[in-house]
Amino acid sequence: MAIREIVTYPAPVLREQAVKIEEFDDALRELAEDMAETMYESQGVGLAANQIGIARQIVVVDISTEEDERKYIVLINPVISEGEGKVPDQEGCLSVVEYSAKVDRFQKIRITAQDPEGKQIDFIAEDHFARIIQHEVDHLHGKLFIDRISSLKRGLYKKKLKKILKNQ
Ligand SMILES: [Zn+2]
Repeated sequence: MAIREIVTYPAPVLREQAVKIEEFDDALRELAEDMAETMYESQGVGLAANQIGIARQIVVVDISTEEDERKYIVLINPVISEGEGKVPDQEGCLSVVEYSAKVDRFQKIRITAQDPEGKQIDFIAEDHFARIIQHEVDHLHGKLFIDRISSLKRGLYKKKLKKILKNQ
């Protein structure tokens, strides 16, 4: 296992449409493990492959219930097939430095995906878990949570980011 480097906005790969995964081999499973390790290292709760510079349709989502637990699921080629309810909540992203904002998401979703063995999975997620999945699936379509806030707020963030980058 290895920790990968997380790319941050405005890196172009974060805007790429991730490619569907067809081969379920050891390399894919290793990628999933690396992504999980990278997510935990960065204290994230989800990570999409675009965020480590790989535009392929795979995400990992933390499902731990205890403080020092490392339990996660891997979703390959995930599709949100149904969604209902709309809830606003604060969101941040490992690829969007020093920013968080309130974003509307479905309260309840249905997801179809494949696991690292290629087996079809289909389940319902709600609340925080559903929010993380929606955030990660957005990444696979080149979308960031800052695309879901007002253009005024986005503009302010871009200004702030410019300053941050200049001071680095
Ligand atoms: Zn993110």
